[in-house]
Amino acid sequence: MKITFLGTGSSSGTPVPTCSCHVCTSRSSKDRRYRPSLLVESNGKTLVIDAPQELRLQLVKHKVMKIDCMLITHCHADHVYGLDDVRIYCREKKLPVYADSDTVNELKKIFPYVFRRTQKSGGKPRLQLTRVDKPFSTAGFSVIPLPVFHGGKKIFGWRIGGVAYIPDTSRIPESTFRLLEDLDIFILDGLRKEPHPTHITLGDAVKIAERVGAGKTYFTHISHNLQHKKTDAELPKGMHLAFDGLVLKTEGVRIG
Ligand SMILES: [Zn+2]
Ligand SMILES: [Zn+2]
Ligand SMILES: [Zn+2]
Repeated sequence: MKITFLGTGSSSGTPVPTCSCHVCTSRSSKDRRYRPSLLVESNGKTLVIDAPQELRLQLVKHKVMKIDCMLITHCHADHVYGLDDVRIYCREKKLPVYADSDTVNELKKIFPYVFRRTQKSGGKPRLQLTRVDKPFSTAGFSVIPLPVFHGGKKIFGWRIGGVAYIPDTSRIPESTFRLLEDLDIFILDGLRKEPHPTHITLGDAVKIAERVGAGKTYFTHISHNLQHKKTDAELPKGMHLAFDGLVLKTEGVRIG
């Protein structure tokens, strides 16, 4: 399985418009972050998690030629406002998109023209929205929804085989920790060091990662408060700050 970080930024992206902080003005490409999404490829099949505002740029940059299925974590702008861009990938057949029930309802409100029977084609994405709350298989991927709190709201992270992706969370329930056993790669919310009402701190994220004990842990959904090189150097062994374009491979067991 091959994992590509299409975007590792928080809801504002980095650089943040109008900001002149040392990260937003950094010359390092690792300090430039699109909004968060993940590309997963296995056995010739392609899965994308979330559709941020820069999805089109991400798909062009990484030469993604097809998408077999999508998973959506929740309906915040930084995870769904690029969803229209997938219409190129569903000309031949409907694209399966999986999410929790609230997210499906909200997507129908945000993109009413997509689901209204006013036209058969003509530039609309053809989405097969499916509500899920249990493990399922799609396009050869074994998928487990990972319920987590994001502020007062319960949303999903996703586990695909030995990889778990939880970009937005303020608390992980005990029942979800049981779904995080034997991970090769754990990708977790690493917004910033300071507290935030809807996200864990980077310190909390390190503690959670130590408890989960995955082969490797990568933090994502990174704000402009964290400079890549300095922050990455401070993290414990086996943990890293992700960056846009980072590619990881798993062989089904542990990565080296
Ligand atoms: Zn987010
Ligand atoms: Zn800044
Ligand atoms: Zn969010």
